[in-house]
Amino acid sequence: MRVVRYATGTITRWGVVEEETVQELQGDLYGTWQPGPVVGPLDATTLLPPVTPTKIICVGRNYPAHAAEHRAQVPTEPLLFLKPPSALVGPGGPIILPPQSKQVEHEGELAVVIGRRCRNVRAEEAWSAVLGVACGNDVTARDLQRRDSQWTRGKGFDTFCPLGPWLVTGLAEADVADLALVCRVNGAVRQAGRTAEMVFSPAELIAYASAVMTLEPGDLLLTGTPAGVGPLCPGDVVEVEIENIGLLRNPVVAQ
Ligand code: ZN
Repeated sequence: MRVVRYATGTITRWGVVEEETVQELQGDLYGTWQPGPVVGPLDATTLLPPVTPTKIICVGRNYPAHAAEHRAQVPTEPLLFLKPPSALVGPGGPIILPPQSKQVEHEGELAVVIGRRCRNVRAEEAWSAVLGVACGNDVTARDLQRRDSQWTRGKGFDTFCPLGPWLVTGLAEADVADLALVCRVNGAVRQAGRTAEMVFSPAELIAYASAVMTLEPGDLLLTGTPAGVGPLCPGDVVEVEIENIGLLRNPVVAQ
């Protein structure tokens, strides 16, 4: 199922996309639910990021070709960092380039959303804690990332975590093990990889992270980016498309 979050006036709700129509999601997203009344056509619905995480966990250098383009070693264990939930922006929302940076870059990534609280989950069981997956963009102020020994600033600006367009639920671990991931800027392909290239699988990353911190329903895990990261300029349109999942499109604007 494709799950969206949408706004009607000042109220935000969960919805389900059936064909090109949004229906209300009735029940508990993390428990049992069913599609309810029709809200309206998908293209007339204002979509929000399809997650409400307590934290966004990211992993650096999880594709060998991306590590190589930064002349970095592939880590022997996952290199985790956090983005704040305030960085989220939904499909169509603008990525705002902050004045502090002269080099903001896209990083198209497979995003995994946690469905139940877990702590110290083993990799073999970790996928059972997943609610669904989405397209993500780990937008990065590369110059600030290089300047700071911690990446909080370079990765943490508002709008630096586009996510969407929806959450695809009900997938098996094998369903996401080898998907094509493409990132385009103004229609030109900048990144093209496959999720099979990941050094650490989503399940391994969940296990590793859950040995550090309790994962809560709605928490988000960005699984790293393939090679080809590059700059974003005002007026650009950046797309992250993942096979069988969806296409996330965001315009880029100057602050
Ligand atoms: Zn990244």
